[in-house]
Amino acid sequence: MADNPHTRECVLGLDVGGTGMKGALLDRGVRPLETVRRPTPRADGAPAVVDAIADTLVTLTRKAAERGLPVHRAGVVVPGIVDDDRQTAVWSANIGWRDLPLAALLEERTGLRVTLGHDVRAGGVAECALGAARGVQNALFVAIGTGIAAALVCDGKPIRSGGYAGELGHVVVESEGRPCACGSTGCLETVASATAVAAAYTVRSGRTVTGAADVAALTAQGDAVAQAVWERAARGLADALATATALLAPELIVLGGGLAEAGRLLLDPVRAGLDERLSFQRRPLLVRAELGDQAGCLGAGLIAWQAGSGRPSHDRQGTGVSGP
Ligand SMILES: [Zn+2]
Repeated sequence: MADNPHTRECVLGLDVGGTGMKGALLDRGVRPLETVRRPTPRADGAPAVVDAIADTLVTLTRKAAERGLPVHRAGVVVPGIVDDDRQTAVWSANIGWRDLPLAALLEERTGLRVTLGHDVRAGGVAECALGAARGVQNALFVAIGTGIAAALVCDGKPIRSGGYAGELGHVVVESEGRPCACGSTGCLETVASATAVAAAYTVRSGRTVTGAADVAALTAQGDAVAQAVWERAARGLADALATATALLAPELIVLGGGLAEAGRLLLDPVRAGLDERLSFQRRPLLVRAELGDQAGCLGAGLIAWQAGSGRPSHDRQGTGVSGP
């Protein structure tokens, strides 16, 4: 076995975020052998971001060569709207690209075979294959960070709808609410994203915080303003998740992203709020993600293995999200 060159192949996984990129060399069991991190130069425009992605893939390829490992394929996941069928980055507010045939561009630049995917859907794929949703046929993975997006798995299949499915962050939860970056008003993102939680605390208290983690700590300490901001975020999440539950009937909801780092401080009130809002619907279990900020990168590796003939060796759950 050890002498079969195919068992020694690896894939590259790269998660391109609005602020930073996380890349890894991953073996057939989707275990990271090497990792790299670097900032996303989004202030310099989309072409600079494409350059940085290509550079990072080249760096990882060099690391694979140093270990004597052939690279099977690269998986690259990005935020915004991604059309998996056309392998195109359709739109990203954060990075500013539009209808960019990113996989083809990166293949041309690096000589690698590249599969493009969506960051949060890839995170959901990873949580289903390796994390909190292992073996679950109907799951909803929600990433709550700078923005909010969801990945849906129904009857074992990820739902994509041309890249437009899963935009939970833009479900309206406050009809008289604040304007959202998307152009609408009162979207979930305006009350429950990490950015919104930190901004709301600053506006109401007059005190600057470095991020939502500070608001979580103040909430736990009994700060009344922080508690009000936190409760509002939990209420918004419960509203949106109740809608999602009525439509999709997930057995399991997995909360990930920076805000979920708060653990029970977030899960308990959201779980209680969701329970209050449901009547006859099947009640989903609500749990915290297990893979942390690695989910996107591991998911990128998984889609790279799935895109070629090389199925990952851990494919054992039968969820359908781990392989064709
Ligand atoms: Zn919106």
